[in-house]
Amino acid sequence: MSKDKKGLQGGAFVIKESRCEDIFSPEDFNEEQRLMRDSITEFVEREIVPKKSRFENHDYALTEAVLKKAGKLGFLGISVPEEYKGLDMGFVSAMLAADYMSGATGSVATAFGAHTGIGTLPIVLYGTPGQKEKYLPKLATGEWFGAYALTEPTAGSDANSGKTSAALSEDESHYLINGQKMWISNSGFARLFIVFARIENDKYISSFIVEYDPENPNGIRLGEEEQKLGIHGSSTRQVFFENTKVPVENRLSDRGNGFKIAMNVLNIGRIKLAAACLDSQRRVIKDAVQYANQREQFNSKIIEFEAVKGKLAKMATDAYVKKSATYRTAKYIEDRSDEYRKKGKSEAEAELAAVEEFAVECSLLKVSCSEDLQNCTDEGIQIYGGIGYSKDTPMEAAWRDARIPRIYEGTNEINRMHAVGMLLKKTLKGELDLLTPAKAVQKELTSIPSLQKPDFNQLFSEEKMMLKKTKKAFLMVAGTAVKKYAKNLSNHQYILMAAADMLIQIYRAESAVLRTEKSAKSHGEKSVEAQIAMSQLGLYHAVEIIARKGKEAIISFASGDEQKMLLIGLKRFTKYWNYPNIGALKNRIAEKLKEENTYCF
Ligand SMILES: Cc1cc2nc3c(=O)[nH]c(=O)nc-3n(C[C@H](O)[C@H](O)[C@H](O)COP(=O)(O)OP(=O)(O)OC[C@H]3O[C@@H](n4cnc5c(N)ncnc54)[C@H](O)[C@@H]3O)c2cc1C
Repeated sequence: MSKDKKGLQGGAFVIKESRCEDIFSPEDFNEEQRLMRDSITEFVEREIVPKKSRFENHDYALTEAVLKKAGKLGFLGISVPEEYKGLDMGFVSAMLAADYMSGATGSVATAFGAHTGIGTLPIVLYGTPGQKEKYLPKLATGEWFGAYALTEPTAGSDANSGKTSAALSEDESHYLINGQKMWISNSGFARLFIVFARIENDKYISSFIVEYDPENPNGIRLGEEEQKLGIHGSSTRQVFFENTKVPVENRLSDRGNGFKIAMNVLNIGRIKLAAACLDSQRRVIKDAVQYANQREQFNSKIIEFEAVKGKLAKMATDAYVKKSATYRTAKYIEDRSDEYRKKGKSEAEAELAAVEEFAVECSLLKVSCSEDLQNCTDEGIQIYGGIGYSKDTPMEAAWRDARIPRIYEGTNEINRMHAVGMLLKKTLKGELDLLTPAKAVQKELTSIPSLQKPDFNQLFSEEKMMLKKTKKAFLMVAGTAVKKYAKNLSNHQYILMAAADMLIQIYRAESAVLRTEKSAKSHGEKSVEAQIAMSQLGLYHAVEIIARKGKEAIISFASGDEQKMLLIGLKRFTKYWNYPNIGALKNRIAEKLKEENTYCF
């Protein structure tokens, strides 16, 4: 492990303990970030919320107009350097913008994410000074909108298998691009496409900046708008290229570097998508709480029924936990990026290296935040009952819009495999030592556990012990699987899926516990009682999932005595001394929601 790196290394959360003082939490936003959050919220309430039905009615022009206004206010240039008319505000601020801009409708969330992320970042990170000067000011101010054209009818998850070609002209002045792209967000109003195409028989695709002027289409033709389940105001079309002439100076980065660009930009896209799932969840909870607080059945507000309280408590807990993990990671990335910059890397190189280091966390967060949002909107409909199924309430569109984050920016299956694969790669490269702690866990399995009850008087002392044990559970399962299958493990997807789920739960639960501990130290336990309850409930759910997923993995690769030993180990590592009274925890959380009549964390 490199000694000069400060803070937690990417992926190291599973072998190390963190102190609450060393993590960033949403309570730590600085003055500038709070101001930006408030001005984005004010913008969303003014420009998006009152017009929600128009987005649902496929008003793509409205989406474009909203982005234009966002551009005028600087919201599109948060990650763009100041010299190119951006605000250059750092990673946490970029995440904050993705979070608060995305809550009211998935249509704007997608359009904003596609433009500021995958549509603009390839140029910020890989562009030449000339390319940056020519395009970034236009993209940062919303004069032009960007789109990212990677997917093809036969190349989705297997992104490098695309058939779109780029042929260099004889005089080497330009490329001719031919091919068909599919599912391209913002395509209906984009003036610039980041297009991925193969030059000759190169192993890897290359990438190009392709301008699109509807008055002079240069062989570019757009398909009809796709009729989608959700995000009805987000423009999604096929894009056809027929002998599209692209000057050689518009190739982005080196020949054959396109796949790397696509993957690295997607790493950033993934964590930003996690952030983009946060505010939508908070809004769903707010609506559900307010509805449950006024809807009466059996002469009682439905929020008084435990069945409803339990749902609200779970929804709020998930939102709290995932926000804790998302901003914790954002700050790790920002700090690492600063560190690399100080050591002489350019801004772009520093950010790329930092995000790559935390690629495991980026993938885990994308999966977990998108799945939480889906569950939350589903329960939101349930709390509304029949009216929740109607287009007249906010739940219906929220539920449909919540479906897409599980598919784009790499499907959740691909991201689960990516996360575990990256962790193992780091181990093989010697960047992360998973082997020593995994061996220690194997040794512990054959030892007799102590029966002496630990002292649990401090806040979260049992929870921290449980977190330590769940890390052992992961190391036991993953370590045994690696020993069994070595490099072939990548073909054993049942194990990879289960291992990823264990990692997700460990990281999320730990982040919430540390965030709350930090708040309790600053403001006293009394003032964060609901947060303590959410951290405890979040951990309890995490432990349950870890036990289930660990078992699924073990019984799919081990048998006989080995299976028995591993299952006993799993039980030992997922057993509380004192199980929390989860009914009481749910009541405490639900009471707070009821009292505040909104989501308030
Ligand atoms: C609304 C929308 C907007 C989009 N916007 C853009 C955009 O702006 N730009 C762009 O380039 N693309 C975009 N996409 C495309 C999106 O990124 C792809 O749909 C996604 O990557 C999955 O590819 P696919 O649809 O071809 O599915 P496939 O790759 O065919 O996958 C189908 C299923 O098989 C699974 N699967 C595939 N391979 C494996 C494997 N090796 N192991 C296990 N399971 C596997 C997948 O997880 C999935 O469940 C968008 C898609 C949608 C729906």
